[in-house]
Amino acid sequence: MLLSRVLPSNTTLLPASSRTRAAPLRCHRVPVGRAITVPVRCRSTMTIQARDTPPVLDIEPQPLKLLDRGTKLKIAVIGFGNFGQFLARTFAAQGHEVLAYSRTDYSDTARSLGVAFFDNQHDLCEQHPDVLLLSTSILSAEAVLRSLPIQRLRRSTLFVDVLSVKEFPRNLFLQLLPPDFDILCTHPMFGPESGKHGWAGLPFVYDKVRIGDSDDRVERCHAFLEIFEREGCRMVEMSCAEHDETAAEIQFLTHTIGRVLAKLDLKSTPINTKGYETLLNLVQNTCSDSYELYNGLFIYNKNSTELIEKLDGALDGMKKELFDRLHGIFREQLFDSSGRRPIDVGN
Ligand code: NAP
Repeated sequence: MLLSRVLPSNTTLLPASSRTRAAPLRCHRVPVGRAITVPVRCRSTMTIQARDTPPVLDIEPQPLKLLDRGTKLKIAVIGFGNFGQFLARTFAAQGHEVLAYSRTDYSDTARSLGVAFFDNQHDLCEQHPDVLLLSTSILSAEAVLRSLPIQRLRRSTLFVDVLSVKEFPRNLFLQLLPPDFDILCTHPMFGPESGKHGWAGLPFVYDKVRIGDSDDRVERCHAFLEIFEREGCRMVEMSCAEHDETAAEIQFLTHTIGRVLAKLDLKSTPINTKGYETLLNLVQNTCSDSYELYNGLFIYNKNSTELIEKLDGALDGMKKELFDRLHGIFREQLFDSSGRRPIDVGN
């Protein structure tokens, strides 16, 4: 079989002399970021190495040693903004090793949380985290994922995302990640505002999109989910498609109403009712998230378009109902039951 048929597109053939370490011939599937030695026409040897690779240490996939380390994980958070920091605080508090990368320099914040901050994605990936958690804005997720030097990661890394829409990152991961990586799509349905007093009882949605069968991979996924379970989250296993359908109503609708109300510039008054207080809290809760997040909910959840149309229709319908009744009352006052005007207006 032609080598070019079985090798990933980022693979280069190097002369055997340039290899870092000649490894015994075993497996012919070339993991990205590693090198193996294969016989060429069964006589000489060549080293196959993915381009832009770190030094080759071993050709065998490294088994995860979760059980040796208890259930402590090495978690790399990509996107260390508002939500990434919020999650990292709890990961670190539970004793996991947390690394972070972001386009902004958050090294001071990271230090205060016990997180190792990297300003270079290559350096972070070379730390071989067990879990790589994508916590960037929905709008930037694809560009960030494409820019990650995934060839530097251990090839069975678990990729997790926490984006507030789910079908989009699922498809992105399946499209861009090599089949050896595990994929867990999640949505903690709370944030720094709603979860500031703890996560107990708050919903955590997850979909095990692709988790390898081996015990270590199953265990690693379990260990990650356990972080949220330990905090008392309500764990909900749900497909990404089902999430998006449901979330459009409960999440996009909530954010839209909150942002519409914000445009009215509502003020607290000495006679606030409970209902009005709820509206003020809604404005506070939704507008403390970035506009980019809200925009992502609209653009990347196909159900949101239908929902905003329905909302528009519902407001129009309600206005029509009110004005029709108002017109009815006016008409009754202006005309008698025969339709004639009882009062000659203007005479
Ligand atoms: P966000 O505005 O959705 O995202 C901010 C993050 O995205 C920051 O880490 C930021 O990096 C990064 N980012 C934005 N544009 C970027 C670009 N062009 N290139 C690289 N990085 C970029 O706010 P967030 O609240 O932190 O949310 C992060 C993710 O968590 C989102 O996907 C959101 O849907 C999800 N989520 C949020 C909540 C919540 O309550 N906030 C709850 C559940 C899930 P820098 O800071 O370095 O610029």
